[in-house]
Amino acid sequence: MPQPRILKITEIFPSVQGEGLRQGEPTIFIRLSGCNLKCDFCDTQYAWKGGKEYSTDQILEEVKKIYRNFPSQWVCLTGGEPLVQDISGLVKELKKQDYKIQVETNATHYIPLPVDWYSVSPKPDDYAFQPEYREKAKEVKIVIIKNLNFEQVRRLRNEFPETIPILLQPQSNRKWSMELGSKLLRQALKNGLKNIRISLQLHKVYGMK
Ligand code: SF4
Repeated sequence: MPQPRILKITEIFPSVQGEGLRQGEPTIFIRLSGCNLKCDFCDTQYAWKGGKEYSTDQILEEVKKIYRNFPSQWVCLTGGEPLVQDISGLVKELKKQDYKIQVETNATHYIPLPVDWYSVSPKPDDYAFQPEYREKAKEVKIVIIKNLNFEQVRRLRNEFPETIPILLQPQSNRKWSMELGSKLLRQALKNGLKNIRISLQLHKVYGMK
C-alpha cells in the first residue's frame, strides 16, 4: 500500500488575505514549514524550522473543519516557502474539493500545478525568479526594505510583462518603509514605469494573523 505523502505544516488558520490584489478576501491559510532563503526582514521566521507532520487527508480534514464556520472558497498555501515541499498531491486534492488556490512564493521554485493565483515575491539580493512566473504570476510583490532602490524596481518591472501588477509592499507596515514606497512610486511614474502601485499588509492593520 502506498504511504501517504507527509507535509510539514506550521499552522492552518482562517483570516483575510492581507496582501496583494486579493486583499480583504476571506481565505483559509495553510502555512508550510521551511524556506530556502533566510531574509533578515522575514516576518514568518517561526516557519523556517520544525512544523507538524500532516498527511494530505489530515490537512483536508483541518481545512474542512475551518470551512464549517468560515466558508471561504479560497485556500492560500504560504510559508516559509511552500514550494520547497512537494505540494502537488495537496493541490490536486484541494482542487477536487472545488477550492480556489493561491500560492505565495519567493519564486525560486516552480512546478506546474493547477494553481489559480500565484503571488510572486522575488527576494534580495538578486531578486531571482523562475522564468515560468513571467506568464503565471497574477501579481509581483516587492517588500520595501531599507536598501531597495529604484533600479531594482525598474529591473523587475522590465522582467515581467506590463500586464502583471507590481506592488510595493511596506516591510511590516513600518512608516519609513511606506515613505520609501511613496518615493519609489513617484520615481516609477516619472520614469514611465507602468502598472506599479503601493500597498500595505491589511491583516496587520486589522490585528489579524
Ligand atoms: S523568502 Fe519569504 S519566508 Fe523565506 S525567508 Fe524570505 S521572507 Fe521569509
